[in-house]
Amino acid sequence: MNDRMTCLLCPAGCELEVEEEGGGLRVRGHECEKGREFAESEIRNPLRNLAASVPVRGTALRMVSVRLSGPVPRDRVFPILEAIAGLRPEAPVRRGQVLIADVLGTGVDVIATRTVPQE
Ligand code: SF4
Repeated sequence: MNDRMTCLLCPAGCELEVEEEGGGLRVRGHECEKGREFAESEIRNPLRNLAASVPVRGTALRMVSVRLSGPVPRDRVFPILEAIAGLRPEAPVRRGQVLIADVLGTGVDVIATRTVPQE
């Protein structure tokens, strides 16, 4: 197995080359140790975080930004985005409020990242 990827952990965007070697992974092209960890995670268990905005009921065209409480497996991102797209929380919404607990059984919550008061 030989794989190439870009490290997404900082703006340097190192181009990584990953090769299986003796049951482990050999990573080249990383400027720091985080790049090796990123490559290993991408191969063995790729995770992603995400953020979005959803409309708030009881307000005039107000949106609230949301994010996940932690990263989720990459293949769950689109189903989670669909669940988030159906969200219509009622104002007021508090920053940190859990809008979907344990979204799709991932153990991760969808939380509001700002406060939207009642109008
Ligand atoms: S390997 Fe290190 S320096 Fe390079 S992009 Fe990743 S975090 Fe940044």
